[in-house]
Amino acid sequence: MRLSKYFIPTIKENPSEAHIISHTLMLRSGMIRQSSAGIYVWLPTGFLVMNKIADIVREEQNRAGAIEMLMPTIQPAELWQKSGRYEAYGKEMLRITDRSNREMLYGPTNEEMITDLFKNTVKSYKQLPLNLYHIQWKFRDEVRPRFGIMRGREFLMKDNYSFDLDFEGAKESYNKMYVAYLRTFARLGLTAIPVRADAGAIGGDLSHEFQILAETGESTLYYDKGIESFDLADLKGDIDDATVAKLRSYYAMEEEKHDADNCPVAPENLKSAKGIEVGHIFYFGKKYSESMGAKITGPDGNEVNVEMGSYGIGVSRLVGALIEANHDENGIVWPEEVAPYKVGIINLRFKDENCSAACDTLYRKLLDRGVEVLYDDRDAGAGTKFADMDLIGLPWQIIIGPKGLDRGAYELKNRRTGERTEHSEEEILEKLG
Ligand code: ATP
Ligand code: MG
Repeated sequence: MRLSKYFIPTIKENPSEAHIISHTLMLRSGMIRQSSAGIYVWLPTGFLVMNKIADIVREEQNRAGAIEMLMPTIQPAELWQKSGRYEAYGKEMLRITDRSNREMLYGPTNEEMITDLFKNTVKSYKQLPLNLYHIQWKFRDEVRPRFGIMRGREFLMKDNYSFDLDFEGAKESYNKMYVAYLRTFARLGLTAIPVRADAGAIGGDLSHEFQILAETGESTLYYDKGIESFDLADLKGDIDDATVAKLRSYYAMEEEKHDADNCPVAPENLKSAKGIEVGHIFYFGKKYSESMGAKITGPDGNEVNVEMGSYGIGVSRLVGALIEANHDENGIVWPEEVAPYKVGIINLRFKDENCSAACDTLYRKLLDRGVEVLYDDRDAGAGTKFADMDLIGLPWQIIIGPKGLDRGAYELKNRRTGERTEHSEEEILEKLG
């Protein structure tokens, strides 16, 4: 992409409305613009990053056997009246009336809709287990939308729903998602601690929130410091049962569920920290299948209510969470997996024919090799170009100016380490292509 023809409306000063670094950097680097409170326009680079995150989430869901589909954002109130949540959800639900005076709502989540779909389509245990998901916009009229897209009112979520004949099956579905989540966050380069979100009651330990440690997090967690011996950001390969069992044996609890007087961890081993909740997995048994009448025929011919669980990942929130974990004083430092582009080319002397020709050629060659490149071909000063490229945060920068070209040298900068090295064009292509 040529920057001169692209759309990245960067901002020089720190916007006064932003109180955390990810919000500041997303606004400054031209990833988002606020439309109204908690509702954002996703500008081109923001949209690219969000889609890359969604792709990783999707790959791991598919790998775990979940099946993608798409449910609508607008739902009939009727379904929620059946489950009893229409009143209970309160003001967080955006209620809409259509032209025929039918009560509708913008979905804050999809348990009701999917349970209704299941009820109307699946009749037998032979069609189970089933795990369906979608990646869809949600709306929650949050009391205090803040921190940019981290707590938005409109946000993108991956949510899936598992259906099983019995508790054993439901537990297996839950465990598959637990592993899929570990892998997903590891692939994003994040250390997300699975924190227990129930105190024990129904279903044992079958509710976990995945929390990224960050000063700016809105949740407080308590955990056994032994959990830090796990390199959670490295759990990308096959994760065996022993690893999962070990991880789950460590205490990690949400503040509301943490009971200081009865905590099994010795005070010197207990840590407390702020976290950003990026995912939540949850077994809820027959809660919706009973209220909404979703039944299947079991092997003995008798009808039973289906066992369910739901599993969410905050795809749009992850964009912010990733920036909280990957930035420096000059801007964003994208991990390669989710960077809007892998490489940026900085043309230091736009008016120099040789220099521009060399940049154009390298740009073409990289594109031909399928490399994602952002080419700063603007008629602007070197200072502006350096600052913008650092702010946008692509993993690699290739800096090309007349002086270096005299020696046949292209400068390669690693955004994360700041290391700069000189190479021939061929070496650059070898390294990045
Ligand atoms: P929170 O405690 O942050 O309000 P929640 O418990 O309401 O989250 P879930 O209903 O479990 O969230 O939704 C699944 C995921 O969706 C969360 O783990 C989070 O990553 C994301 N999410 C929830 N609310 C928002 C929001 N207002 N803005 C952005 N992402 C959100
Ligand atoms: Mg909430």
